[in-house]
Amino acid sequence: MIRKLLQKIPSPFGLPQRKRTTPTVIPASQHSLRRERLSRHAVTVVERLQQAGYQAFAVGGCVRDLLLNIEPKDFDIATSATPEQVRATFRNSRLIGRRFKLAHVHFGREIIEVATFRANHEEETSAEQSRQSESGRLLRDNVYGTFEQDAQRRDFTINALYYDVSSGQIHDFAHGVHDIRNQQIRLIGQPEQRYQEDPVRMLRAVRFAGKLGFEIEPHTAAPIEKLAPLLHDIPAARLFDEVLKLLMSGQGQRTFDLLYEYDLFAPLFPDTDEAIIDRPDYTLQLVRQALTNTDERIAQGKPVTPAFLFAALLWPALPQRVRDLEAQGIPSIPAHQQAAHELLAEQCRHTAIPKRFSIPMREIWDMQPRLARRSGRRADQLLEHPRFRAAYDFLLLRESAGEQTDGLGHWWTLYQDASPDERRRMIRELGSDKSSSPKRSRSRSRRKPRNNAPDA
Ligand code: ATP
Ligand code: MG
Repeated sequence: MIRKLLQKIPSPFGLPQRKRTTPTVIPASQHSLRRERLSRHAVTVVERLQQAGYQAFAVGGCVRDLLLNIEPKDFDIATSATPEQVRATFRNSRLIGRRFKLAHVHFGREIIEVATFRANHEEETSAEQSRQSESGRLLRDNVYGTFEQDAQRRDFTINALYYDVSSGQIHDFAHGVHDIRNQQIRLIGQPEQRYQEDPVRMLRAVRFAGKLGFEIEPHTAAPIEKLAPLLHDIPAARLFDEVLKLLMSGQGQRTFDLLYEYDLFAPLFPDTDEAIIDRPDYTLQLVRQALTNTDERIAQGKPVTPAFLFAALLWPALPQRVRDLEAQGIPSIPAHQQAAHELLAEQCRHTAIPKRFSIPMREIWDMQPRLARRSGRRADQLLEHPRFRAAYDFLLLRESAGEQTDGLGHWWTLYQDASPDERRRMIRELGSDKSSSPKRSRSRSRRKPRNNAPDA
């Protein structure tokens, strides 16, 4: 298939480790990318920049994905124009930039991101313009450069392809087309150094391998396990964004397996990693099932929320914290509350979970013991709870990982479909069941949550 898409591409002469300054230019007749496949607005931006006398290309993920016949998420443009010059060319543009300055050109709801060519940090001399931390990480990287330099500072060869919408040519500085054809994720330059400059590139390697089903080429893969701890230096907000891209883009399960294989999961979710060591079968089953469900929902176009996924990823780490607190003499219910609070706070030091996700996540957790207490009017009240559906799905997930709940998930499945009469009967039948009796619930509540968290 891919071979068919990329016809007669000239073969490279060696690894792209060696720096090259002239790109291979692949004419339109030798590749499958057609400008009609690009967003109309991306084409407009490139053409207007070219008419204004600048170089401009579609670049990065959109070129890569289109060559693979995948619908791109967005369209990035690289240009020789400075952000201010882009701003002056498009009335409908705004300058943005935290890590570096970019122009956003707005067309209704579509935004085309336009970045000025930037240099690879090795090639510029001014310490002012590009600072590195002690571990070699680039702290600021806002140095404009040439077309060639822009290609060299990109992460992977498959992300350094530039498509000229006017001529139809693809400019390939790093044998990216060859690597697309051979399904390889290959860093440009010296892998260890490129990871030290930006450790997030390790996550990106795994992300593209998972998304595209590619292999991480051996030199690119080799340093990852050793350098994985460098992720601890990355701001937690950036890592949260990366985790969403890794696990909520439709190939979450496969990507998790790769993260785990390359020791990249532990720096992101240290408590869950401990839980995998303690109880591998249960924890891996729960995490992988949660991701499989997420992937299926995405494939079906159903909504997915980070609240549910983070609830699942962290749930196996709760019991150990509860046990530690109980061992200090804290009673079960407050121990559960405190454990949840502390686990979440600790996790936010690694991946900063915004409140709009962490609040519903806690609600999903807090509903778990409540789902067992169904007597009187409680079951109907629970059904009305805005978080019921998520809590019920979460219960089924726990059961699918082997948690013993006495058929609670099945009971709720039946109850939701039951007629009012049947519901009354189901509640009456619970009467003899001590665990759901309102009279006994107070005395039992001390013990109850223990049943709702996975056993040690
Ligand atoms: P996606 O399909 O996820 O959007 P993408 O390749 O477009 O994939 P982006 O994060 O949108 O990824 O980045 C756009 C381009 O910018 C990349 O293709 C790559 O060329 C470059 N890039 C992004 N992040 C880095 C990085 N950390 N180091 C070097 N180059 C990067
Ligand atoms: Mg992109």
